[in-house]
Amino acid sequence: MKAELIAVGTELLLGQIANTNGQFLAQHCAGMGIDVYFQTVVGDNPDRLKEALAIAAGRADLIICTGGLGPTQDDLTKDVLGELFGRKLVIHQPSLDTMVGFFRDRGAVMIDSNLRQALMLEGSDPLVNDTGLAVGNGLTEGDTHYILLPGPPREMKPMFLNYAIPWLRKVMTDETPLFSKMLKFTGIGESNLEHALLDMIKEQVDPTIAPYAKEGEVTIRLTTRAATQAEAYAKMAVVEAEIRRRVGEFLYAEEDVTIEQVVYRLLQEKQVTLAAAESCTGGLLADLLTTIPGSSSVFRGGVVSYSNELKASLLGVPMNLLEGEDAPGAVSSETAKAMAEGMLAIAKTDYAISVTGVAGPDPSEGKPVGLVFFAVACKNKPTEVIESRFSGNRETIKLKAAKSALYLLWVRLNG
Ligand code: ATP
Repeated sequence: MKAELIAVGTELLLGQIANTNGQFLAQHCAGMGIDVYFQTVVGDNPDRLKEALAIAAGRADLIICTGGLGPTQDDLTKDVLGELFGRKLVIHQPSLDTMVGFFRDRGAVMIDSNLRQALMLEGSDPLVNDTGLAVGNGLTEGDTHYILLPGPPREMKPMFLNYAIPWLRKVMTDETPLFSKMLKFTGIGESNLEHALLDMIKEQVDPTIAPYAKEGEVTIRLTTRAATQAEAYAKMAVVEAEIRRRVGEFLYAEEDVTIEQVVYRLLQEKQVTLAAAESCTGGLLADLLTTIPGSSSVFRGGVVSYSNELKASLLGVPMNLLEGEDAPGAVSSETAKAMAEGMLAIAKTDYAISVTGVAGPDPSEGKPVGLVFFAVACKNKPTEVIESRFSGNRETIKLKAAKSALYLLWVRLNG
């Protein structure tokens, strides 16, 4: 199946916002074995949108539009499609009911233009908006399938994942179903992972191998068509085994979960507790862990000891490690070790992890940006210290360091 993505919005053309919807949809289409051959960006202009739709219909089986479903007069996507196909716009009653409730609960007045968000093209299928008010649409006109999604990513993503994909599966009846398997990696950067699998990615036929990265995590999605899931997994087995042989040590899950969720599950399974002593991550590690509901059962808390004084006074890191001519300094294996051991002693947990490094943009203590030391302390076992180098800006280095700390814990908990 060939697809074209059309992002509607003058802000996109002016460069005021980036087309992150295009990136998200393209990644998911690739993962589902749908070929995206063109992506178009068009402003809020009915004639040019008609033109873009006509061109897309001539070369794609599936057209996914984002944006222009809102209440204002420049939100035109449904009107334009309605005009093109001679379909009326009709009210989708459940969306209208939700909208009326939304305004009533807030004591706000619902103005007439809001009604536009509950409109759908006659003869189309509604795509429910669980995080906003504008209803999406799925429709087939001739041989072409159309999916209309709202512009805001927080509305578009859940609508696409929870409603548009099932709709697509329903309308693609003539095609053998697609099955995907997610392999999630951490502790290895996207480029290194791709490099290790480059020949496989280049020569892929069936199953398809689609890598995509978020900072600190890389996902590989294997996709194939088969009559059943068991048959699909059997078709993937050879490729999966080869991937495992090459980079299996970094594979932490076979489902769409984060490394912090996996670490949380492992801590629970093993009935052990954790505390974190953070410097350069500034509490990000604790933040990632505490985002998981129920994390208080395993994560006891932590210390953000950014200054040398607090590393010494709160965690008991000896000042002669931190300062002085021959001192290894705050960013060193010795300090990482002392921070983790100090944390373990005060929190009385089973494990304590520490992170200390240079997030940049300037070097510190004459040490380069991106240098980070981690230590994992554990009752009755020697403390393990790891040194890493990360690239990127301050924000990226912090995130990579926090995710790597979780990776190290995962390795240690599995060991
Ligand atoms: P609304 O109901 O909010 O008006 P809409 O479906 O009409 O939603 P637009 O008005 O086109 O969507 O865009 C609303 C906002 O969604 C934009 O200001 C922007 O923040 C975001 N947005 C729209 N399109 C994209 C895109 N392609 N990528 C990322 N963000 C987008």
